[in-house]
Amino acid sequence: MILTEQTFSGLGLAEPLTRALAAANYTKPTPIQIQAIPALLDGRDILGMAQTGTGKTAAFTCPLLQRLTGNRKQAGARACRALILAPTRELAIQIDDSIRNYARFVSVRHTVITGGVPQNRQVRAMQRGVDILVATPGRLLDLIKQGHVALHSAQHLILDEGDRMFDMGFIRDIRKIVALLPHERQTMLFSATMPREIEKLAREILDDPIRVEVTPEVVTVDRVEQHVYHVPGSAKRGLLEDLMADPALSRVIVFTRTKHGANRLAGQLLKSGVNADAIHGNKSQGARQRALENFRDSTARVLVATDIAARGIDVDGVTHVINFDLPMEAESYIHRIGRTARAGASGIAISFCDPSERKYLRDIERLIRRPLSPANSQDVAGAGPREAAPEEDRRSGRKPHGKPAEGGRPAQPGKKKFRRNRNRRRAA
Ligand code: AMP
Repeated sequence: MILTEQTFSGLGLAEPLTRALAAANYTKPTPIQIQAIPALLDGRDILGMAQTGTGKTAAFTCPLLQRLTGNRKQAGARACRALILAPTRELAIQIDDSIRNYARFVSVRHTVITGGVPQNRQVRAMQRGVDILVATPGRLLDLIKQGHVALHSAQHLILDEGDRMFDMGFIRDIRKIVALLPHERQTMLFSATMPREIEKLAREILDDPIRVEVTPEVVTVDRVEQHVYHVPGSAKRGLLEDLMADPALSRVIVFTRTKHGANRLAGQLLKSGVNADAIHGNKSQGARQRALENFRDSTARVLVATDIAARGIDVDGVTHVINFDLPMEAESYIHRIGRTARAGASGIAISFCDPSERKYLRDIERLIRRPLSPANSQDVAGAGPREAAPEEDRRSGRKPHGKPAEGGRPAQPGKKKFRRNRNRRRAA
């Protein structure tokens, strides 16, 4: 493995794919992409220990697209040429979105089959067959039993988030599904952890795989201090402005749920004297690029972003991520906070949670397997009173430690000083 191959084309990806990755603002491949792409292009099986945020989706999707488009074989009726299994509907949809993104300059047919929605459209989408089918195991087996889907011509199988499939009780379903695929195929198994059952499954279904283990680069949940303010929706803007009075928040990404919300908030911040720019899907590529440049060179202190636009934001030294709105998908929370704490640094994530968002907060805490520490209004000079929330009651006795900066506002908010403060806080 030549690790100096630091471009996507150097890894062997063809032009239509590298163009799509450049359009997504991926400037260089992540470690898992560097290790996996050449082997997968060669047709090897892979056992990938990698969690969300490492870039694993592109690592398996791009070689898959290249192999499928290099051979224009058609899938027969109700069949697929590649099957991607994911544990949840959200992940399946996200993978399908990624395929659409990376496949924008090649022609492939792909579709998603998941539970929780009527099956008619899924059945129709499969009638002529597809190149790539992304599915959750339960609904897929249902449709196979009814004769709407056949797997006999799937030459590629990808199992994503194996450990979550195991947690969710899908292992038996997976074995049933794998038994329906041809023996001669390429198989990829990704899992953040390797419980014994997944090791066993890997031995059964993989043929001489390369093993790739990466620590998350894009996302490093454990290195991010994570706090939550329980605050009514109407008080969020005031709270944000109060927080921004602290110069320790020197390079901040603020996430909103909607494009309109991002524009409005950036405008409001500007009016209150905070240099801010917005980045979202309605902006032209040029405008997005300019917003990023301004943020990179510190012309803008705040970048207000939506989830989609944030994909591929590659800016070092982000001191804080603020979730002005909580994401509806818990996975997005991980992507968001991964924008701070990059390249080995640590960072701070602050979430605003209004009463209507408590459900999302619970989902996030379940996903990251820990509660966010509640921040106090006193933690930030001038912050308005905080609304009492039931979530905090059940955590009573926990000492909040959600200060964005210690000891009031440092006169010179240099990064070193900021880190020193944080280290002192941790040592205390
Ligand atoms: P994943 O681990 O596949 O869920 O990807 C995590 C996030 O990283 C997604 O938002 C991707 O769009 C983004 N991403 C993947 N590969 C790269 C790359 N090479 N450069 C920048 N961002 C990337």
